[in-house]
Amino acid sequence: MPKPTKAEQNKYEALLERHLALLSGDVGSMRDEALRASEQDSSVDNLADQGTDTYDQGFLLGLIENEEETIQLIDGALARLRGESEQAFGLCTRCKEIADSQKAKKTKSKAKIDPWIAKERLEYLPWAQYCVEHQSELEQEREIA
Ligand SMILES: [Zn+2]
Repeated sequence: MPKPTKAEQNKYEALLERHLALLSGDVGSMRDEALRASEQDSSVDNLADQGTDTYDQGFLLGLIENEEETIQLIDGALARLRGESEQAFGLCTRCKEIADSQKAKKTKSKAKIDPWIAKERLEYLPWAQYCVEHQSELEQEREIA
């Protein structure tokens, strides 16, 4: 996979900005909803209802957490795209580490590592920091931990 071209970078930037705008709007209205639900909670007389309200609220706040995490990922990707980060946009951090250590050790490896993330993946997840393989490796590590 070659390094993303300038035109591709512009496309990813537009995608990221659109995602960011959508998510920022969502988080605002969802937080309002969750807060409204919590205000209602305090005035609820029926204890049986309170259980489900708390559940809904937790669910909503969980979604917000994920959205805020995604927004951070998008911000990071935009910084990489604009050259405001030490990392390059579209590089798998782990592949890069492996490629660098091979270079340092001058290993004659059979397969040359290509650290650039596949275009199809970046179009779907422009804030991806890892290739599919290393992303799932990381998620497995997190599950074990
Ligand atoms: Zn990788």
